[in-house]
Amino acid sequence: MADHKHQYAGRTHHVGGEWRPAVSGATREILDPADGRPFAVVAEGDEKDADLAVAAARDAFAGGQGAWPRTPVAERAALLRRVADLLVRDRDELGLLESRDAGKTVEEGRVDVDCVADAFRYFADLVAAEAPGRVVDAGTPDVHSVVVHEPVGVCALITPWNYPLLQASWKIAPALAAGNTFVIKPSEITPMTTVALLDLLAEAGLPAGVANLVTGPGHTVGARLAEHPDVDLVSFTGGLASGTKVAQAAAPGVKKVALELGGKNPNVVFADACATDDGFDTAVDQALNAAFIHSGQVCSAGARLIVEESVRERFVAELTRRAQKIRLGRGTADGVECGPLVSEQHRAKVEAYVASALQEGAVLRCGGKRPEPSDVRPESGYFYEPTVLDACHREMRVVREEVFGPVLTVETFRTEEEAIALANDTEYGLAGAVWSADASRARRVAARLRHGTVWINDFHPYLPQAEWGGFGKSGVGRELGPAGLAEYREAKHVYQNLAPKPVRWFAG
Ligand code: NAD
Repeated sequence: MADHKHQYAGRTHHVGGEWRPAVSGATREILDPADGRPFAVVAEGDEKDADLAVAAARDAFAGGQGAWPRTPVAERAALLRRVADLLVRDRDELGLLESRDAGKTVEEGRVDVDCVADAFRYFADLVAAEAPGRVVDAGTPDVHSVVVHEPVGVCALITPWNYPLLQASWKIAPALAAGNTFVIKPSEITPMTTVALLDLLAEAGLPAGVANLVTGPGHTVGARLAEHPDVDLVSFTGGLASGTKVAQAAAPGVKKVALELGGKNPNVVFADACATDDGFDTAVDQALNAAFIHSGQVCSAGARLIVEESVRERFVAELTRRAQKIRLGRGTADGVECGPLVSEQHRAKVEAYVASALQEGAVLRCGGKRPEPSDVRPESGYFYEPTVLDACHREMRVVREEVFGPVLTVETFRTEEEAIALANDTEYGLAGAVWSADASRARRVAARLRHGTVWINDFHPYLPQAEWGGFGKSGVGRELGPAGLAEYREAKHVYQNLAPKPVRWFAG
């Protein structure tokens, strides 16, 4: 693995190809969520650092004939593939680093690295296979008309803490494939794997200044990037409140804005999906996975179980039994199935949601508290037990708002119409699932769900070839798929008159 010593010495800004400390000299300790203890020190940037990084990205974009935006597509694709190979080489170390940073299990961290490598390969293949432009029939042989795609320019990429490396790759890979330069700002609490990725980009041969990184808070570094007059595009993944601020900050500059925001994702289970023992076991198992993988800190988490009344008691009883058996602990320990929440502050937010749900009449089936220290010995981090809240309804905050923790709410329905209405009764629209043994019903319901991804008899898988994003307040634009590349491009129509003549509109 490349040498990442700068991560521990506070020199985590990558500007114009050099690793630097913050201009102010400020640093921040990065805490391991499993024990609350610092394990790394990074630069704590502010607006000045953001400005320097944007200037470096602008210089690299302007460059000369050989600059990145004008590098042949085949070379850009080859570089992305080299990055994928380096990720595979460093899979174990990166998986471990992601685990310490974000609290997830090491195995989850490694699977994330596989997905990151896949994203780099996908966008390499996509641009390499494309025609260089689209010839348009102008209706006369005297005109050659072609639509080409050009990079947008300098991109500001702002990412969250739950999938730090994966979310970074969904932006960096298409941005580079399209020929842009960028400044990335990872979450201030989980920047480590993004720092490591910038090293790999350099090792793969990316020219200095194309990829820049500033670590630091959203309200300073992120806000400056969003409003910066020399930034052409802002791609943001995070919560609705911050995303709204980013859109407002970017509006006066009429920048392109892509927003990947939160979700409140329904998992609709029809009784017919549970008619056989295998069907029941699969639906319960997947509902557990939907809600509790990475302690529910997943934008597409199936946090709302919407189950048909006739199977509700059996389903919830089994789900609860299994939720109580989930093994919590440090993500690096053997046999652990769920790590801690990412921070003390985030755990307090989750606790407040559960308290409000209980006040509003929800019935606690399991969890609802921090584990006894002995249960997760020897850790003392930000753990919270998987929690199932029964008898929930749409007026409860816990049903309407994104909790982003290991909290599953249970609602019931009697008819198909009722199920659809409940599943769509959210201001978000990121993802949702329908479970049914009746293929016609499943497709009928899927067709009416107002969500960017709909799973039938599954939950959570995504494909790099398929667009990812949300309806409603889950965002603007799409990542992955051809649309995920299009976000980073401008279309240019070049109209060449092969036999120019005077127009003679004006007589004089
Ligand atoms: P967050 O909104 O608090 O922060 C996200 C990023 O934005 C961080 O880098 C943060 O520093 C920065 N930021 C905060 N305020 C800012 C501002 N005013 N201007 C510019 N940048 C600012 O989100 P989070 O808590 O890190 O992540 C969790 C959220 O991310 C959840 O809502 C989750 O659903 C969402 N998410 C969505 C997707 C998706 O694909 N739709 C994927 C992952 C996470």
